[in-house]
Amino acid sequence: MSELQAIFGGTFDPVHYGHLRTVEALAALTGLQKVTLLPNNVPPHRPQPVASPRQRLEMLRCAIAGAPLFDIDDRELHRDAPSWTVTTLESLRAERGPDQPLAFIIGQDSLLSLNKWYRWEELLSLSHLLVCRRPGYPEQPASAELLRWIETHTARESRQLHQQASGLIFQAETPLSPVSATAIRHRLQQNLSCEGLLPPSVIDYITRSGLYRD
Ligand code: ATP
Repeated sequence: MSELQAIFGGTFDPVHYGHLRTVEALAALTGLQKVTLLPNNVPPHRPQPVASPRQRLEMLRCAIAGAPLFDIDDRELHRDAPSWTVTTLESLRAERGPDQPLAFIIGQDSLLSLNKWYRWEELLSLSHLLVCRRPGYPEQPASAELLRWIETHTARESRQLHQQASGLIFQAETPLSPVSATAIRHRLQQNLSCEGLLPPSVIDYITRSGLYRD
């Protein structure tokens, strides 16, 4: 079986250490060699990111320069129609073949509302789900149906993720990082320092482009 590949989707408005350091820790815990960052094309009926797709992509490029763990897949940004995670995973699965172990990374907050995602129950037929801890959220979902689904598919050991192509949920003991993009945008609006919350190269890009100032 070939190496486990991982995809990490997000709006990345902007990308921050809550994404990057958490996923670096996840990679060390689960033996991931490569994590592909996948900036989302947000459906029109959802709150739109403040930064444009091009700006979010540029911030990701700044963030991963010199970080060999990461690469970027910008396929969702090239589509006119909004992309759902399940349809993006379908295209990745078609490209990589039925036997390639594939994992989609999410934070604990996303797991708790996973049953609101389009065709959520099909996600595990396409990939594993790798879940990072995130402070400030309950351990378990409110929905009994979702809780049962999580329990049914939980892998106790990360090595299981390498042994099958899809179908497992692994909740990793990643260190807690209290950073959020919303909090960073608010700090920038108030002209407060964001040092230590996101890479200096991303802060430089934001400063140069005047993003998030009002
Ligand atoms: P916002 O504050 O605008 O909602 P965000 O900081 O949650 O943004 P997103 O780009 O929406 O960032 O998140 C992408 C993914 O990263 C989601 O699955 C989310 O759960 C996860 N994530 C974001 N921040 C953290 C964090 N601090 N720790 C762990 N996971 C995180």
